[in-house]
Amino acid sequence: MTEKTSLHILLAGPRGFCAGVERAILMVEKAIEKFGAPVYVRHQIVHNPHVVSRLEEKGAIFVKQLSDIPDTQQPVLFSAHGVSKDVVAEAQERNFFHLDATCPLVTKVHREVDLHDRLKREVIMIGHAGHAEVLGTTGQLPPGQVLLVETVNDVATLQVKDPDNLAYVTQTTLSVDETADIIAALTDRFPNINAPKKEDICYATTNRQGAVKNIAPRADLFIVVGAKNSSNSNRLKEAALSAGAKNAYLIDDVTQLDWSWFEGVKTLGLSSGASAPDDLVQDIITACQERFATTMEDVIVFEEDVTFNLPRILAA
Ligand code: SF4
Repeated sequence: MTEKTSLHILLAGPRGFCAGVERAILMVEKAIEKFGAPVYVRHQIVHNPHVVSRLEEKGAIFVKQLSDIPDTQQPVLFSAHGVSKDVVAEAQERNFFHLDATCPLVTKVHREVDLHDRLKREVIMIGHAGHAEVLGTTGQLPPGQVLLVETVNDVATLQVKDPDNLAYVTQTTLSVDETADIIAALTDRFPNINAPKKEDICYATTNRQGAVKNIAPRADLFIVVGAKNSSNSNRLKEAALSAGAKNAYLIDDVTQLDWSWFEGVKTLGLSSGASAPDDLVQDIITACQERFATTMEDVIVFEEDVTFNLPRILAA
């Protein structure tokens, strides 16, 4: 029998589910438990196909738009990414029993947008066009009113009404480093721009990127478990590469592992996005253990103890 090649696995901590994702998933489960199936959910509750299919098995029906839902007395949930004011108005118009699973840290950004608008400031959002969270946050004001900036280059061409009466907010799941560059460009061009009191990139995004950056310099290969449409998961893969991992991949689950990636690899870095269940990471560890002589190192860079309460109607 040939001896197994050795593989050292560096497991990033924290990784995986954040408090906002835990709360959103629990809200769907509690809603089904309390009001029976089906429960309608607008948009993927969190960006992960495994979470979505597990909830579908329990009785959730995911729809793209509220117009895809028939008239019903059953609960209708908004996803963790948040929704525009138009969506809330549509749900009210149709008399839907709607429950809002928007992460409280996204709601915080919505409130900032509202406040700046009341103070007559023009709002700039740093974020990715088309992402559900960006649609929800920019949708706190009428279309076209929030200016979107995706890159440092966008800042140079930005047309504003009054350079001395501006404020910016950000998507919660951006790259900490890239966003710092964009903010620097904004404050350079508009020195009087109002910044959020506490930054909008959330603790979970910051901590997961920090943990990845801590171990990436030691990794020949870095694997991030998460969905391709998950913003924070994509940022983790980028963070691994920029911090020195020789190679990095974002995969949904163990079925997408390609063993050719492991040729010559002695150290594997492993993490997962805020919407990826940890059993998917464990599947990858198990597959590696079957193939290699593995050693494990849990590298916990930050401890987390954040939790968010459920709405009262679901808490009991
Ligand atoms: Fe909330 Fe951050 Fe998790 Fe998004 S990634 S759900 S903002 S805690």
